[in-house]
Amino acid sequence: MTIQGKVVVVTGASSGIGESTARVLAKAGAKVVLSARRTERLEQTVSEIRAAGGEAVYRTSDVTSKEQMKSLADFAVEQYGRLDVWVNNAGLMPLSYLNKLKIDEWDRMIDVNIKGVLYGMAAAIPIMEKQGGGHIINVSSVAGHRVGLGGAVYSGTKFAVRAITEGLRMELSPTSRIRATIISPGMVETELLQTITDEDAMQALKARAPIQQPLRGEDIANAIAYAIDQPETVSVNEILIRPTEQG
Ligand code: NDP
Repeated sequence: MTIQGKVVVVTGASSGIGESTARVLAKAGAKVVLSARRTERLEQTVSEIRAAGGEAVYRTSDVTSKEQMKSLADFAVEQYGRLDVWVNNAGLMPLSYLNKLKIDEWDRMIDVNIKGVLYGMAAAIPIMEKQGGGHIINVSSVAGHRVGLGGAVYSGTKFAVRAITEGLRMELSPTSRIRATIISPGMVETELLQTITDEDAMQALKARAPIQQPLRGEDIANAIAYAIDQPETVSVNEILIRPTEQG
């Protein structure tokens, strides 16, 4: 089975990369379950997908709740009878230098960017094992490969996502036929910068060589679609994708 007819859960689907992923996969024939905290945004995207002839439903949920992740997985199975792909995309990036001691923001990044991914996996793995296979796609970043100024904790979370996904691949691909994919984007035009509260970090980011043409959410969605669309015998382990002008 390629994308056509696959049941796909996307977290962080109320904006940016997640929203584009839901739209692109639905257009390719997947049955998409969108999730995030902002219900109105999900509702709007789902109605647009349906108006365009696609299949989609939404469920409001917070990735920092393991109970809500479990009920999101159960909801997907209730709606569509199975769960083929789970995209852990929700994330935030409140950059700051460590000596600003923005400990609440460190906690938040760890809760959403790492624990949220683990809770998503915990919800999906038992269902996929029972089905005899599945596919978990975790969104890391170029920041999961290198550390930038102000990005110590953010990068820490994105390095962790890559480590966890590689562990998943080694443990569960051979035995449980669960494919594992890391998606590592460079700069994408989304609402992510709005999560930065530290003025110095924002200024430092703006002072760096400006990128005139960042990636669009759709560019990352296409990479996710490529990984899903491969035959079950092919596991795309990582896609690293930058705007051409990003150094
Ligand atoms: P956006 O800010 O546009 O999207 C983030 C999404 O995460 C939103 O849908 C938001 O929905 C959701 N989210 C945040 N917190 C929670 C939560 N507690 N529970 C559920 N959902 C949550 O940014 P992007 O699309 O850019 O980000 C998507 C992913 O891509 C992130 O993991 C980010 O780190 C990664 N990334 C982005 C890059 C970029 O340049 N934009 C580069 C590399 C990686 P809501 O607020 O409604 O809950």
